[in-house]
Amino acid sequence: MSAAHVPVTAIVTVGNELLCGETVDTNAAWLARSLAALGAPVVRKFTVGDIAREIQAGVRAALEIADLVVVSGGLGPTSDDATKQAVADLLGRRLELDQGLLAALRERFRARGYPQMPSLNISQAEVPEGATVLRNPNGTAPGLAMAADARLVVLLPGVPRELRAIFDGDLRVFLADRFGARLKPIHHRVIHTTGVADSKLAELVEPRRPTDMGPVTLAYLPDLRGVDLRLSSRGISAAEAEPWFARIEEAIGPVVAPWRFEAESGDVVEALNAALARAGKRVAVAESCTGGLIAKRITDRPGSSEVFVGGVIAYENEVKIAQLGVSADDLRRHGAVSEVVARQMALGVAERFGASAGIGITGVAGPGGGTPEKPVGTVWLATALDGQVEARLLSLIGDREAIRERAAQEALSRLFRRVVEAAKA
Ligand code: AMP
Ligand code: MG
Repeated sequence: MSAAHVPVTAIVTVGNELLCGETVDTNAAWLARSLAALGAPVVRKFTVGDIAREIQAGVRAALEIADLVVVSGGLGPTSDDATKQAVADLLGRRLELDQGLLAALRERFRARGYPQMPSLNISQAEVPEGATVLRNPNGTAPGLAMAADARLVVLLPGVPRELRAIFDGDLRVFLADRFGARLKPIHHRVIHTTGVADSKLAELVEPRRPTDMGPVTLAYLPDLRGVDLRLSSRGISAAEAEPWFARIEEAIGPVVAPWRFEAESGDVVEALNAALARAGKRVAVAESCTGGLIAKRITDRPGSSEVFVGGVIAYENEVKIAQLGVSADDLRRHGAVSEVVARQMALGVAERFGASAGIGITGVAGPGGGTPEKPVGTVWLATALDGQVEARLLSLIGDREAIRERAAQEALSRLFRRVVEAAKA
């Protein structure tokens, strides 16, 4: 490997509790994100049990493919903590008592009102010969960094807040020092979409994107709320990535435009609230099947008081009639999940709350309550804007939670589109 290449990382997380699924391996995810941002992207992850043989197998395999191996877990003082000894043995280093560390440990216990440090903790002051100590502001087990030929092995404690503090403190500085300009952070450009399936998006995007994407890769990241198209550059600076991003975005921009929105947070509510504020409009919501989820989504965003008036959770028909002015006759004739009722809900809430925009939503979230004509997932969504109502029928899939989440997202995105279109007209 050339001296100038971007250092790549492998992560080894240690712990029987990770293998059996009792503890979710959040350290691996956090480390991977942080290392990518730092410019030492992760190429492989290993998880092993608290046994010397397993830890050594993991670290050995990691050293075969990576310049930097970050190990998490098993640095505590108890008998199930085997990482330090196992890695020292693998690298052929003896453990030595570090007097400075020992003094700091004793002081830590004294400061907490313990007259004496438990003798078990003495082992935490033992350091593989030649290792660099990375201070742990949140606990007793320091991090350790040591060279293995041209590679680097870093040991970190498993407790997430200790691992993070060491990473953001001494380790960040140590890695910057060691790898210098070879660290090239990954840069992202994210295009947010909502209301379109990832397969449909791919069908439109793939023929349009440049055949030569250079150092940039494209990922489709779907969830219940939409699909993010994420462009990522590797091994180049932000300035070098910029023209690639611009070219790709220019090529695919037109085909994604109908579903696209701009939001730092990735939440369409940010775009909606901004559009409402720009247009000087405020919204009120009348929710049946979403039970307040739309109001919660809007008010989750700071500054929403500027654009949100209030809402009614109109679950029972009586509430739809009394609070929103929905016609009892229409409810009887068409049922609560119907276009007329959704329209009256949207208009009613906007009128009664003195808002220029209203949302009315009524549907069957399931798992019960479906009929052949109105199966689970049938949702009527109406948006009112300056007295103009528009209604659409949604046929949503998934369990109760997914249907509610998707219904709320559709409502928010539809109102967003309408506000934007109205501002253009
Ligand atoms: P250890 O350093 O192995 O003694 O781990 C101490 C505690 O940190 C464990 O009991 C877990 O609760 C937590 N922990 C260890 N490894 C991880 C990990 N990879 N992700 C999240 N938590 C962890
Ligand atoms: Mg452990």
